[in-house]
Amino acid sequence: MLVLDGKIAAAAVKESLKLKTAQLAAEGKRKPHLAAILVGNNGASETYVASKVKNCEETGFESTLIRLSENIDEAALLSTIHSLNNDPAIDGILVQLPLPKQISEQKVIEAIDPSKDVDGFHPINVGKLVQGLSTFIPATPYGIMLMLEHFNVQTKGKHAIVIGRSNIVGRPISILLSSNVKEGNCTVTVCHSHTPNLKELCLQGDIIVAALGRPGFVTAEMVKPGAVIIDVGITRVEDPTAKKGFRIKGDVAYEEVAAKASAITPVPGGVGLMTIAGLLKNTMQAYEQRVNRS
Ligand code: NAD
Repeated sequence: MLVLDGKIAAAAVKESLKLKTAQLAAEGKRKPHLAAILVGNNGASETYVASKVKNCEETGFESTLIRLSENIDEAALLSTIHSLNNDPAIDGILVQLPLPKQISEQKVIEAIDPSKDVDGFHPINVGKLVQGLSTFIPATPYGIMLMLEHFNVQTKGKHAIVIGRSNIVGRPISILLSSNVKEGNCTVTVCHSHTPNLKELCLQGDIIVAALGRPGFVTAEMVKPGAVIIDVGITRVEDPTAKKGFRIKGDVAYEEVAAKASAITPVPGGVGLMTIAGLLKNTMQAYEQRVNRS
């Protein structure tokens, strides 16, 4: 059984980006620059954004973190995004989700200049993804594709079961896995909260992508021997014995499923790290497109 270790695959992506950035510096060029907006003090969001900023620094990118109050109104957030859209020094913009309820996430997503939309959530970029055109692939599905590439997981002709149909994970990874690309060419079944016979479907899966946000949902009895398991879930589960008072749990019952699988991503240390790798790749891509246009 192969552990699809996100530390190893993400380090490889970061190393190649680091070399590219060092090359840019040697040529006297500016570095790629990511601007991240964090609204409010949600603990998980703070952790994610801090990690994104830290990874930018480790890769040699510039990063700017803009913190806004939980009570900020929508117009003020949109105005911040417009300034970043018009700032020639900024290559990529991300707004950490979720946002407080007075703000429309859809309006925020659509306010970001598609050429700086390194999260790949803008409808223009999603449309390009669906049509198989060059675009910013949302960071988590991109990270999964990079993980499959790194570990040379064969996907062609396989049956992939994707559990979850969200815009940020389930839907885009189902499109990518069914695309005519090296880590694609799967037959994909997309399952969601209204799917009957989920267990029977999962048992047909050569690859299972679990992205539903229910800790330990995928158990050994749902998995075909030799399946490849991609666990996207990240849920904080209370645990008084843990230093922080909680533990991060994936959507897969790891020990029992690992005993049956041919390959599996751990949580933590799997897809989460690859998500950051995907974001860094998108930021470099945004930079290169900007430099080539000017
Ligand atoms: P979401 O809540 O937007 O979507 C969940 C999906 O799961 C829905 O489409 C729903 O229909 C489906 N679902 C829910 N219960 C189900 C059930 N019993 N059977 C079948 N389908 C069911 O969630 P999301 O934003 O896609 O995130 C999913 C999980 O992935 C969460 O744990 C989230 O924290 C995690 N996540 C991890 C990363 C990462 O970097 N590793 C990134 C994004 C999200």
